[in-house]
Amino acid sequence: MAENYDVIIIGSGPGGYVAAVRASQLGLKTAIVEREHLGGICLNWGCIPTKALLRSAEILDHANHAKDYGLVLEGKMTADVKAVVARSRGVSARLNGGVGFLMKKNKVDVIWGEAKITKPGEIVVGKSSKPVVEPQNPVPKNIKGEGTYTAKHIIVATGARPRALPGIEPDGKLIWTYFEAMKPAALPKSLIVMGSGAIGIEFASFYRSMGVDVTVVEVMATIMPVEDVEVTAIARKQLEKRGMKIITSAKITKVEKAADSITAHVETADGKVQQIVADRMISAVGVQGNIENLGLEAVGVKTDRGCVVIDGYGKTNVAGIYAIGDVAGPPMLAHKAEHEGVVCVEKIAGLPNVHATDKSKVPGCTYCNPQVASVGLTEAKAKELGRDIRVGRFSFAANGKAIALGEDQGLCKVIFDKKTGELLGAHMVGAEVTELIQGFVVAMNLETTEEELMHTIFPHPTVSETMKEAVLDAYGRVLNA
Ligand SMILES: Cc1cc2nc3c(=O)[nH]c(=O)nc-3n(C[C@H](O)[C@H](O)[C@H](O)COP(=O)(O)OP(=O)(O)OC[C@H]3O[C@@H](n4cnc5c(N)ncnc54)[C@H](O)[C@@H]3O)c2cc1C
Repeated sequence: MAENYDVIIIGSGPGGYVAAVRASQLGLKTAIVEREHLGGICLNWGCIPTKALLRSAEILDHANHAKDYGLVLEGKMTADVKAVVARSRGVSARLNGGVGFLMKKNKVDVIWGEAKITKPGEIVVGKSSKPVVEPQNPVPKNIKGEGTYTAKHIIVATGARPRALPGIEPDGKLIWTYFEAMKPAALPKSLIVMGSGAIGIEFASFYRSMGVDVTVVEVMATIMPVEDVEVTAIARKQLEKRGMKIITSAKITKVEKAADSITAHVETADGKVQQIVADRMISAVGVQGNIENLGLEAVGVKTDRGCVVIDGYGKTNVAGIYAIGDVAGPPMLAHKAEHEGVVCVEKIAGLPNVHATDKSKVPGCTYCNPQVASVGLTEAKAKELGRDIRVGRFSFAANGKAIALGEDQGLCKVIFDKKTGELLGAHMVGAEVTELIQGFVVAMNLETTEEELMHTIFPHPTVSETMKEAVLDAYGRVLNA
């Protein structure tokens, strides 16, 4: 007889494994099915290993500017890319093991293999279609294997994979996805990055720091197109100052491959085509949900543009089937996946006062140099929605800590509703902004107004003071500019 659970989760990324921990805390008998690696893309090929790579890049950047800080470095610091990659993979492996530990600690059964929903309440786990990469992502011990399992509630948390443009499909050799970009055997001399969203620009920033000649090609008018234009203009200037070439309003229409290089045909908005030759190209044109081969069509689960359609609690149109994380649509971010997982299982457990996930308050962080972070509406979006707004800005050039850090190129920008004082959005570029943005996220979640922010004491000297000054600026009360 099939083993029965309260909840079975398909996929152990940040959405799935966090949902499993919470479900178990709530007393639900829980199993998680994984076909490739505990921790999903985030821990193994996404958020975490990129941040490890970018940390090496940051240290190298600092070292190469040691003179600016009165420090003497004999010669130039260079990167041993094999060691940089090994460190990054090691960080992933440690966290991958950590997820295994969490499953055991919380008495969540791990089932290894490829899951398919056969009917509401039932899955079949077959042989995994993915190779297991030992020793980095080992199959955990004490797991369950192939077979039929039943559960009252099935949560699909299968994540996403790289999207490909027709004719410019990644081949793993000359045209990379994030998988190959994450572990280069050697550094290319030159690199084209197609797409300047968070993934593209983080890799562009990393490779540039490593000394690679990097060209970014973006189809939209600005890099990081979802971000506020003022913020991305500052980021662009800084990236270009670091030697990155950036071409916007341009698309790669064709790629010709040679033995060890590619030629990209880049068409700009004026119709002109230029050819750019590079050793390698990274295709970073977005991701698409893993909705295939899960039996979703057969049981009638609604999908839209490659993602499962859910309500604010992860419910699909079919009773007993839920979806969370990347497979349930944008923003495709790990913290959104985790939050959706918790909301979903708390609702399943019947907890009172469970709030639906509010996607308008999901922060976004890009860890390039300089960093970019934001939450809520951009100025353009607020105007497009017809909101009457007040905008405040504060430059890092007037912030004591940023100057002391030697990182005075940055901006904090806030957007308020003119009538109510509601904080609608916050946008930052510069040192440590990915750590700072959470202040505004909490403020927005508590429906804070300008009054309360102005009455809040920010520590001195910190870059966070730019946040308060930006708020003051929106109301004509800026102090240090
Ligand atoms: C290079 C890169 C950098 C990123 N950086 C950040 C960042 O800094 N911050 C951030 O918030 N987000 C970042 N992301 C996005 C983040 O990784 C995803 O949003 C997050 O991993 C989504 O979590 P998830 O649980 O929905 O799915 P995933 O992490 O994709 O996990 C899904 C899991 O399901 C498994 N699976 C799929 N189908 C089946 C099946 N049929 N049976 C069994 N198992 C299955 C997969 O093997 C996988 O382990 C980055 C992504 C990339 C690629």
